[in-house]
Amino acid sequence: MGGRGGTSGLSSQSTIQSFLKAGIRFDDMDNLNKTAVEQSLSGFRDVLHDMGIPLSAINMISGTDEKGEIMGVNGFNDLVFSKRVYSSLDKAKENSESRNGYFVTNGLYGTGAHEAGHLIINEIINKTMKGSSVLEKAKARKSYKIEKQIIREAKKTYGSSPQISGYGQTKPSETIAEAVADVYTNKSKANPYSRVIVDIMKKKLKGK
Ligand SMILES: [Zn+2]
Repeated sequence: MGGRGGTSGLSSQSTIQSFLKAGIRFDDMDNLNKTAVEQSLSGFRDVLHDMGIPLSAINMISGTDEKGEIMGVNGFNDLVFSKRVYSSLDKAKENSESRNGYFVTNGLYGTGAHEAGHLIINEIINKTMKGSSVLEKAKARKSYKIEKQIIREAKKTYGSSPQISGYGQTKPSETIAEAVADVYTNKSKANPYSRVIVDIMKKKLKGK
């Protein structure tokens, strides 16, 4: 393990390694481009790390043939990569590119940070709805209950709810995920409204 492909390969391989070390199972990854997976996983990992969520919050990581998704997190905290997109670095990069501001970030790191935003919502549901049934939690996910709460609070704090990106306008869940991608990828250039959203998420993770 490690060493093949020179120094950039070495440093980038550390992300997959850290998930393996945390005991996360990888499945059906044979046809995926490792560099592309690494870049997205590193965005994903950095968000989890900063939010204080252990990598073991992930159930498993796998490739998928399902259409529509580039990279996704489901209700069971499985992290999936589209085989169609992630089979080549060029294709994956092209899919992560923002055209006319549709995405808040450019590149695969941002795609990973975005998906981590969805996972954080699952974690907030698990923390704040401890006594609820699996069905109730699934309903909360489907109705974007937590996302809507966060957006309401952010609007109150910020005074308005400006658009983060075109994609962020499509669903409350995408508003949240784009805010997370914005803060962790664009850093000092992030929309201050995205920061307000991330701060509220951190507060909710602490049960406040
Ligand atoms: Zn999303």
